[in-house]
Amino acid sequence: MIWQYWNHPIETMPRDELEKLQLSRLKDAVRFALRTPFYKKRLEEAGIKSGDDIKTLSDLGRVPFTTKHDLREGFPYGFLSVPREDVVRLHASSGTTGAPTTIYFNAADIDTWADYVARCIYGTGCTKSDVFQNMITYGLFTGGLGFHAGGEKVGMMVIPSGAGNTTRQFRLMQDYGTTVLHATPSFLLHVESKMREEGVSRNSLKLKRAFAGAEPYSEDTRRRIEELLQIDVFNSYGLSEMNGPGVAFECQAKNGLHIWEDGYLVEIINPETLESAAAGETGELVITCLCREATPILRYRTRDLTSLCLDPCPCGRTHRRLRRITGRSDDMLIINGVNVFPSQIEEVIMAMKEVGNNYLIEIEKEGMLDRLTVKTEVTPESFRDDTRPLNALKEKIRRTLQASITISPRVELHESGSLPVSEGKAVRVTDRRAGD
Ligand code: ADP
Ligand code: ZN
Repeated sequence: MIWQYWNHPIETMPRDELEKLQLSRLKDAVRFALRTPFYKKRLEEAGIKSGDDIKTLSDLGRVPFTTKHDLREGFPYGFLSVPREDVVRLHASSGTTGAPTTIYFNAADIDTWADYVARCIYGTGCTKSDVFQNMITYGLFTGGLGFHAGGEKVGMMVIPSGAGNTTRQFRLMQDYGTTVLHATPSFLLHVESKMREEGVSRNSLKLKRAFAGAEPYSEDTRRRIEELLQIDVFNSYGLSEMNGPGVAFECQAKNGLHIWEDGYLVEIINPETLESAAAGETGELVITCLCREATPILRYRTRDLTSLCLDPCPCGRTHRRLRRITGRSDDMLIINGVNVFPSQIEEVIMAMKEVGNNYLIEIEKEGMLDRLTVKTEVTPESFRDDTRPLNALKEKIRRTLQASITISPRVELHESGSLPVSEGKAVRVTDRRAGD
């Protein structure tokens, strides 16, 4: 394997040097933070009055956590640390869990962000000879313009196709010889179903790789996309509060996502006790942004659940790796008193080859009890007129799910391509119990 580095000195920097760099950037981040109304108050209450009050990286522990709630309270300008005239762009989160939060960028921030995204893209083996079709929503969502700028920095030819309209996507892939895609994993699966439906031959396409992120997905889903589309899929993690994409990304070893520690200080905490999790243990990811001036955010509680890989990566990068993010702490469903993460359901069903590319989860009240229904598509090969094999499959899904989540769901099978698909992040859970 020939590893490709966008910024070799930074990506392979010895840990002690990397930590020195982090400390100096942390002091700067605190300096910027002290210029915002929100942090001025917060940090002074914690006895931090200047960047120099941070003497070692462990002084970060004195900084209070920042939550999504804080960002909403600070709307619109409570987190702005530069004059409004110096802001050249704003982005907002998707609002998956409530009111969206806003992040402001100055010109330097935009350039720095693009460089992190370029680092991710280049590290998967892409070069300027690639044609990159960015099949994700443009606009306030960071995924569109973030990847767009990173792709251009690498020198790829970028096709800003946006999400949706699969027929047009195929046309673009064929017309321009697209080699690299970026999309949500759910949209990539949808693209594959539509390819079959519309009779688009894989041989007419030049696809090599895809970046898949913005929502959780299982290793089986990755494998499925790789096999069906015959491409290499790399996991991409980011969040608008930390600029957007470009925070953590898989290298060619595909064994965890390198989080760029020169720009993002990482902690994993126990979300209940707020103490640091033990090495390698799963917990909530907390990130301090070290690479943005206009909107400094310190010790941000992402609510995303993950853990750090402890072994070194064969690629030689010294930045640590996050394991696949399984979901958010607030994704957890409580069904008849049992805790269930949607990712547990995905893991079971996507491992079955008869199951198609899309699924939905519904919960409703039935008398005193909660009733879980899992609707899945069935591959065209497994969808027959004869109902016996389908009933057997239904029963197999029910039993396997029960063994995994201890709840026996109702299972519905649907024809391939018939369940609704959202253009942005997948909306898979419908909880109708509220208000009961
Ligand atoms: P919102 O929080 O409203 O969805 P963002 O658009 O900023 O707003 O999305 C960031 C969130 O998306 C992350 O905090 C995480 O929950 C999810 N996410 C992004 N990339 C991944 C990924 N590769 N795996 C799992 N979840 C992801
Ligand atoms: Zn690596």
